[in-house]
Amino acid sequence: MKHRTTGALVAATAALAAAASMLGSTTATAATEDSAPTYQQFKAETFVDTDRQYIVNGDEPVTSDGKLRQFYDDMVGHKHTGRKMDDGLVVNTVSGRDDTWSQAQVGNLTYCVSTKFGTDYTRTVQAMADGAAQWEAASSAIDFVHVPSQDSSCSTRNNTVLFSVEPVRTSQYIARAFFPSTPKRSRNVLVDDSIWTSGSWTPSNIMAHELGHTLGFRHEHTRPESGTCFEDNNWRPLTAYDSASIMHYPQCNGSSDDLSMTATDRQGAAALYGA
Ligand SMILES: [Zn+2]
Repeated sequence: MKHRTTGALVAATAALAAAASMLGSTTATAATEDSAPTYQQFKAETFVDTDRQYIVNGDEPVTSDGKLRQFYDDMVGHKHTGRKMDDGLVVNTVSGRDDTWSQAQVGNLTYCVSTKFGTDYTRTVQAMADGAAQWEAASSAIDFVHVPSQDSSCSTRNNTVLFSVEPVRTSQYIARAFFPSTPKRSRNVLVDDSIWTSGSWTPSNIMAHELGHTLGFRHEHTRPESGTCFEDNNWRPLTAYDSASIMHYPQCNGSSDDLSMTATDRQGAAALYGA
């Protein structure tokens, strides 16, 4: 989840807005589409996370140089031509295929919560449980399972759990997650302590947004209907566009200010994993 201040971008062209949003710019960019950054510029300005991953689209990791190049090529190659969609949730796609968990795995999404959260540990555990419960209520196939016995050795190197939840100190985002296709070595949810002071965005809803990514859901505002914050076309719609979706940044022409899950979000989760 990206801070609302850094995400408040004015759309120039859609492609440029996407570039600016990925660069984590704090001010609206007055450039035109012609001045899209070169790859070297883009790479130099892309935030590198604590575990050497690049962060794009506010809170989504890219695991290698090669993948960042691919991401860049997609970004500048795709004109935002207003892809037609009849049918608010969208699932990430990799090479045209849905990026999802198997039915067996989605029913056993094990995680640890690092004791390095210290005095915030208990409320982090609670926010994760609350966020997970929101998706579990949408689909009986989904089950996030906290494994407290692993909390004292909770990192991407812990192979007892599917993913780890760890603290981070950054001004780049509130929290960030991963997609089902992300390799184990990069599969963590990182949480900055600004999660406790994000106003109408409750910690539970921020966690639910991040857990939406871990289930394969992309930012709703990459859809043409939002009119801004376009990311790329590597996704498939599961429902009609929903400007109030929990996966829609409010600052990207969203219609909800509190990141709460909508009935459409629940429909999308059920459409992908079963009711
Ligand atoms: Zn996000």
